[in-house]
Amino acid sequence: MAVFCTKCGAQNIDGAQVCSQCLATLPVVTGYQPTYQPQSDFQSGYQPIQPPAPLYGDLPAQDWQRMGADKKIVAGICAILVGGFGVHKFILGYQTEGIIMLLVTVLSCFLLSPVMHVIAIIEGIMYLTKTDEDFVRTYVQGRKGWF
Ligand SMILES: [Zn+2]
Repeated sequence: MAVFCTKCGAQNIDGAQVCSQCLATLPVVTGYQPTYQPQSDFQSGYQPIQPPAPLYGDLPAQDWQRMGADKKIVAGICAILVGGFGVHKFILGYQTEGIIMLLVTVLSCFLLSPVMHVIAIIEGIMYLTKTDEDFVRTYVQGRKGWF
């Protein structure tokens, strides 16, 4: 494909950028494609195969959470911070034990509050150090009121 100069009309060889007669810049030849292709085809074609995520692996933990283990952290923290009032007992559904701790604290004019709080801190630590499964078995299913 010959290239004709837009100024003087001279015919130039294919691929020439400047006119051989008047040195004017020649128009870019349409249809010319560089032979060099970037490696995008090679890179985009590479898709590492991901193994399917194991769905069954998380189900037991979620079941324990649904069965009451979600209260473990809340009950444990409440026991350690304000356990003398039996708050953690009420969180776990131990109404009787919670009222006992609350009454002992209040009716003793808070003289026994430190004792109740020590008990609560021990219980709170026991809650937090148990696994979700142990927590559910002991306190949700076993209804263990103290410690
Ligand atoms: Zn020319």
